[in-house]
Amino acid sequence: MSKVILITGASRGIGRSAALLAGARGWSVGVNYASNAQAADETVAAVRAAGGKAVAIQGDVRDEAAIIAMFDATEEAFGKLDGVVNNAGIVAPGSPLAEMDIDRLRRIFDTNVLGAYLCAREAARRLSRSRGGKGGAIVNVSSAAARLGAPNEYVDYAGSKGAIDVLTIGLSKELGPEGVRVNAIRPGLIETDIHASGGRPDRAQVLGVQTPLGRPGTADEVGETIVWLLSDASSYVTGAILDVTGGR
Ligand code: NAP
Repeated sequence: MSKVILITGASRGIGRSAALLAGARGWSVGVNYASNAQAADETVAAVRAAGGKAVAIQGDVRDEAAIIAMFDATEEAFGKLDGVVNNAGIVAPGSPLAEMDIDRLRRIFDTNVLGAYLCAREAARRLSRSRGGKGGAIVNVSSAAARLGAPNEYVDYAGSKGAIDVLTIGLSKELGPEGVRVNAIRPGLIETDIHASGGRPDRAQVLGVQTPLGRPGTADEVGETIVWLLSDASSYVTGAILDVTGGR
């Protein structure tokens, strides 16, 4: 069945892969991005080439009005939503907590926690059957850091992803009766640009060989799990937190 979905942070990396895989199923995708319009436009073209529909939507998940606008833009383009992927997320350069300043901590928590909570709130408002929605699925992108803690690197980021896990558990119980499934995935070491933004472009390759599967993961391998959790094939899965980590 064709679906209408919104993916935050879909211009690059994991979100982009999920968008392309959704496109290959013929789905319609709101491709949100923060600042890289060229990457978003390329993703939109690739989704269309794969057989789906797509529209690029600029909007910073730290901005409540921008979040509401990105949901509106998706529904104006394609009709009522079936699914939302809460994917936009950032890291900052690796550092022990003792060295982290308040601006960094605010940036991480504003983006990864408040941004994700506000997107999930908006999804709850649009998807819930009692509010006129069709039901559907929310997929929250957490991280293996939520259970590893990321010491001396990203304990701020790890904590922000811990919040995503708990959001998933609570919201799945709130929204089950509304016909909305809520799940999370926890990627491990995945080859994307995020590691460069954390100051270690080769981090996934270097550490990935230490995983039980002996390599880093690809964005497509994560995208597949996102699209499965959005799809009707996972119709009895809710409140689940799925590791996609090569066993890490
Ligand atoms: P990425 O390659 O750095 O891509 C990040 C995406 O998020 C881009 O599309 C970017 O848009 C967008 N974005 C960043 N800040 C935003 C904001 N404030 N508002 C809206 N969009 C924003 O990252 P990734 O590796 O694909 O990560 C995606 C998710 O997976 C994140 O939640 C991350 O924490 C999680 N994750 C990744 C890994 C990994 O190893 N890669 C592991 C565990 C979890 P622009 O293109 O406009 O900058």
